[in-house]
Amino acid sequence: MAEAKIPKATAKRLPIYYRYLNILFNAGKQRVSSTELSEAVQVDSATIRRDFSYFGALGKRGYGYDVESLLNFFKKTLNQDRLTNVALIGVGNLGHALLNYNFRQTNSVRISAAFDINEEIANTIQSGVPVYPMAEMKEQLQIQQIDVAILTVPIDDAQKVADELVAAGVKGIMNFTPIRISVPATVRVQNVDLANELQTLIYFLDHYGSEAANQ
Ligand code: ATP
Repeated sequence: MAEAKIPKATAKRLPIYYRYLNILFNAGKQRVSSTELSEAVQVDSATIRRDFSYFGALGKRGYGYDVESLLNFFKKTLNQDRLTNVALIGVGNLGHALLNYNFRQTNSVRISAAFDINEEIANTIQSGVPVYPMAEMKEQLQIQQIDVAILTVPIDDAQKVADELVAAGVKGIMNFTPIRISVPATVRVQNVDLANELQTLIYFLDHYGSEAANQ
């Protein structure tokens, strides 16, 4: 399939559409109108139509969208029909929580290997995931064909570990540390700063209350 460039905001909504379409499909529904979809996923129908237009005309006027073909389409786009193994580096409090969580509500990603510098935790199994010493990281990432890593090490080690991940050939890093790591342009970083997200929420509530929410 040609790699259509879709806007980041659209890409972020795809899993939401996908999850809902899956529910419809499992309930035996064959089609869905854009209004119904809009209400269920809380995205206005104009946005839905625009999002879908990036993938070509999928909807028919007066008919709505065909659930199964839409689902198959998103499945391919999101690679939901393929399992992506992901690594986690730093099995501290947050790392532990993520191992335990392990994205069970999706069938498409799972943390299959964790790494830690602490010798007490390396060579153990945590929440069903093997934890390897850092010295084995490069080798394990290659054996397991992992090119995505979740970074939950302390701030002071984040850049160093990111460099090690890049050297090991990782293509994407989900950075849970509050610092911005530097990586080559060929590596993609997604920052998830939980404290910052929470502070932003509180800031907006303090300054604007809940009325202007989501606008
Ligand atoms: P958090 O709540 O942020 O997860 P924590 O207080 O439980 O953290 P941290 O000191 O932040 O623990 O360390 C997180 C984990 O990262 C620990 O298990 C630690 O052993 C591991 N770690 C520290 N430095 C490195 C490193 N250079 N490489 C790999 N793992 C590391």
